[in-house]
Amino acid sequence: MNPALEKLAKYLRLEIERGFDNRAIVGGLHRMLDPWEAEARDTDLPESLIDVVISRLRDYPQLSENSRKEALVGLVRRLQSEFPDLTFPPISKELPLDPTDQTTQTETAAQLQSTVVATDEPQPTLEADTIAPAVSKPEYQEDEQPQPKVADTIETKEPSAALSAPLTTIAGIGPKSAKTLRKLDLETLGDLLWHLPRRYDDYSQLKTINRLWYGEEVTIIGTVDEINLRVVRDGRMKLIEATVSDGTGSMRVTWFNQPWIADRLKPGRPVVLSGKVDQYLGRLTMNSPEWELLERKQLHTNRIVPVYPLTAGVSSKWLRRVIHSVVNRLAPQVLDPLPISIRESAQLMVLSQALQQIHFPDNWDLLHAAQHRLAFDEMFMLQLGVLRQKREWEQLSSSPLLVEDSWIESFKNSLPYTLTQSQETALQDIRTDLASPKPMNRLLQGDVGSGKTVIAAAAIGITARNGAQSAIMAPTSILAEQHHLTLLEILPASAGIPKERIGLLLGATPEKEKQSIREGLSDGSLQVVVGTHALLEEPVAFARLGLAIIDEQHRFGVEQRATLREKGDNPNLLVMTATPIPRSLALTIYGDLDLSVIDEMPPGRIPIKTQVMRPKERTRAHQFLITQIEGDKQAFIIYPLVEGSEKIQTKAAVDEHQKLQEEVFPNFDVGLLHGRMRPEEKEKTMSKFRAGELDALVSTSVVEVGVDIPNATVMLIEGANRFGLAQLHQFRGRVGRGHHPSYCLLIPDTEDDADNERLNAMEATNDGFKLAELDLEQRGPGDFLGTRQSGFAELRTAQITDLQLIEKARKHAKALFASDPNLIQPEHKLLAQEMDRFWTSEKGEMS
Ligand code: ADP
Ligand code: MG
Repeated sequence: MNPALEKLAKYLRLEIERGFDNRAIVGGLHRMLDPWEAEARDTDLPESLIDVVISRLRDYPQLSENSRKEALVGLVRRLQSEFPDLTFPPISKELPLDPTDQTTQTETAAQLQSTVVATDEPQPTLEADTIAPAVSKPEYQEDEQPQPKVADTIETKEPSAALSAPLTTIAGIGPKSAKTLRKLDLETLGDLLWHLPRRYDDYSQLKTINRLWYGEEVTIIGTVDEINLRVVRDGRMKLIEATVSDGTGSMRVTWFNQPWIADRLKPGRPVVLSGKVDQYLGRLTMNSPEWELLERKQLHTNRIVPVYPLTAGVSSKWLRRVIHSVVNRLAPQVLDPLPISIRESAQLMVLSQALQQIHFPDNWDLLHAAQHRLAFDEMFMLQLGVLRQKREWEQLSSSPLLVEDSWIESFKNSLPYTLTQSQETALQDIRTDLASPKPMNRLLQGDVGSGKTVIAAAAIGITARNGAQSAIMAPTSILAEQHHLTLLEILPASAGIPKERIGLLLGATPEKEKQSIREGLSDGSLQVVVGTHALLEEPVAFARLGLAIIDEQHRFGVEQRATLREKGDNPNLLVMTATPIPRSLALTIYGDLDLSVIDEMPPGRIPIKTQVMRPKERTRAHQFLITQIEGDKQAFIIYPLVEGSEKIQTKAAVDEHQKLQEEVFPNFDVGLLHGRMRPEEKEKTMSKFRAGELDALVSTSVVEVGVDIPNATVMLIEGANRFGLAQLHQFRGRVGRGHHPSYCLLIPDTEDDADNERLNAMEATNDGFKLAELDLEQRGPGDFLGTRQSGFAELRTAQITDLQLIEKARKHAKALFASDPNLIQPEHKLLAQEMDRFWTSEKGEMS
C-alpha cells in the first residue's frame, strides 16, 4: 500500500475514533497537509485524490463538529471507493448528516463541499510547452494558450499518415505534454481520435435563471455583473465569487482555487455556465460550473459534453479542446471500411460522422447511433474472424469414422442408466460429425452433473471402432485420474476396449511408465490416453489420433487447443465445458465451433438446498456438517481463495485444516487438498476421500472442476463473497451427485449486506445458465472468462453480452462471408486491412 495513503488513513482513523475533535494531530488535522502533499506527489497518488484530500481537510479546524464529521465521511467514502482495502472505524449516525441541511454548517463547510465537486477532476496543470515558464499565469489558462491545432501540413497527406502522426504535430503539444499523454496510451493523432469519452454530461438544457430548479443540470447564458477574488484560509484557498444575470434574474456563482477566472470573466462579459444548480442560504447558486465565453464555439458548456479518461497533469478542458481539434480535422477524412451495402442494410451511421458524434454529440439520438456504429464494427470484426476460423477448419478433411446403429444400441444398453433426451441428441450430433469427411469441431456444453463424460466415452468408442486413437485432456490431475477411472468402467463393457489399452499420462507419472505410454501411443497398442497438459508437453506421437477431447475448456488457453490438434492429422475435436456460457458469449468466443447443449439433468437428482449464512452462524454450519457425517455422508469445505498468492492461500487452508481437525471435528478424519501439494499426494487424498476414508475434505479451489463423489452431501464454502456466481455453482455441483439430499452452505467473510446480496441468487436458483448470465453482468467478461480469454474483454464500445448486437453483426458477417470470404473484392480492401489490424494487434489468434 502507498505509504502516504497509509499515513492518511491512520490519521483519519484516529480522528474518527476521537469523535472529530481535531486533536488527532497536535495543532489540528490540517497540519499534516503540507508534508503529506509532498509525500503523496512523490509516491504518485492520483492528483485528483490529493486535491480532494487537501480541499476537504484544509478548513477542518474552522468547521463545526457536524461539518467535520461530514467532511471525513465524504473523504472516507471517496478513499474506500478507490482503495477498497482501506478500513475505517464505523462512524456513528447520531449526528445529522443530511448534506442539504446547510443551516447548521458554517459558510466554509458549504464552500468546502463545492470545492470537492470542483476538484474531483484533476485541476489543469498540464504544462503547455509553448508557454514560457516565466509567465506567472497558469499555462493552461483560457484563451492565452494557443488553440490546439493540427498542423496544416499533414492535412494534405494520406489520411492514414495523418492518423499515425505523433501528438507533437498539434500546435500546443510539445514533448512534455506528449509524455504526459503517453500515460493514457496516447501517442498518435489516431490514438486521440480513438480516445473515447467515458461518459457525458448533459449541459444541453439551456434555461433562464428564473426557471432554474435546485439540483438540475443546466446551462445558462448571462452577463457577469460582478466578480471578486478572495483569499481565505491563510492564503491557501482562493475563492472567486461572481454574480451573473440574464435579464430574468441573477445568481451567485463560485469557483475555488482558479484565480485566473477573475481575469477572464470581467464584468460585462457574456458567459455560458454549465453545471448543477445548488443552493446556499436559501438562494440558488452554481458551484464551480464549467464556463466559457459566449463568443467562442462551445465545447465545455451548452451541449452534451464528453468526459474523457484523464491522468495526472491533464485537465479535462484542455484534453477536450485537443481532441476537438483532432476530431474536427481528421474525423471527416477517415475512410469507412464498411462497404456501403452493409452500412445501408444494417442502418449504420458512416464512420466519420460516428467519430464526430461520439466525441461531440449534437444530441442523444445521434450519440446512440454513433455508439451503435462503433460497437457494431467491433462485433462484426469478431464475428468475421470467428467465421474465417471456422471456414479454415471446414476446408480440412479427415477420414470418416462410422459405426452401425447396432453398435450404438449395444453401447447404450450396456450402461446402468438410460441416456437423457439431450444426451441422445448430443450423441447423435457427434456421431454425424464423426461420420463426415470433415473434422468435427464441437462444443459440448452442459451444466455440472449433466452427464457429459458418458457422451465423450461414446465418441471414444466410435473412434476406436474405426481403429483410431483418442486423447482426452483435463485441466487437473485429479480430474484426469477420475476420467481414467470412469473410462475404465465404461469402455471395456460398452465399447470393447480392453483396460490395458487405456492409458493415463500425468506430469507426475514416473518416467519409465511415460516411456511405455509413449511407445503404446506411437505403435497404436494404446487406443485411449487420458491426461493433463502433460499430453501436450510430452513428445507424444500418435499412430493415428482420430479424436481429441478437451474437458473443461475454460481452463485451457486457445493455443493449447491448437497444440493438441496438431498431434494428429486433422483429428476430430470435442470440447466440453461445464461453465454455462451464456448463448451470446458462446456465439462469440466459441462461434467457430458447433454447439451441442445438454440442458437437462439425469432423472432422480434431488435439487441441492443452498443457504447463505452469516459469519457468526459458522458454528451452526459446522454442527450441520457433523450431523451429515454422523449419517455416513461426506463434506467438502472450500477455503477462501486469496487473490494472487497461492502461498498465502495454501497457508490459510493448512491452518484452517488443522483448526477444524483439532477443534471442530476431533472425532472425524479431515483431509486437506491444496495447489501446492505434489500430484501424487493430491491423488492419494482424493482416493481416500472417494473411498470414504476421509469424512471431510478441506480444499482450496483446486476441487472446483469435475470431481465426482456421490457420497458427498455438503459443500461448505468459506469466503463465499470472494467467488463469482459461476464458480460457486461449479463448487456446488460437486455435491448432489448421488441420490441423497444435498446442501450447499455459503459463508461470506464479511457481514456487509451489500457485498453479500448477490449470493442470494445462489439460494434462488440452481440454474447454471441463469447464474452465469448474472455473473457476467456483475463481474464483466474479463473476470468471467478468466485472464486467458480476456482479449474479449478489451472491446472498446461493444458489450460482449449484447446479444442483439452479436446477432446483428453475425448476420451481416455471414452474408459478407458468403459472397467474399477472403475479402478480395476491391470494395472490401479497407475492411481486409481493418481485419488484419483488429486480429493481429489486439486479439491474437483464436482457435
Ligand atoms: P459432467 O457433465 O459434470 O461431467 P458427469 O459426466 O461426471 O457429469 O456425470 C455425473 C454423474 O451422472 C455420473 O455419476 C454419471 O454416471 C451420471 N449419469 C450420467 N448420465 C446419466 C443418466 N442419463 N442417468 C443417470 N445418471 C447419469
Ligand atoms: Mg465432467
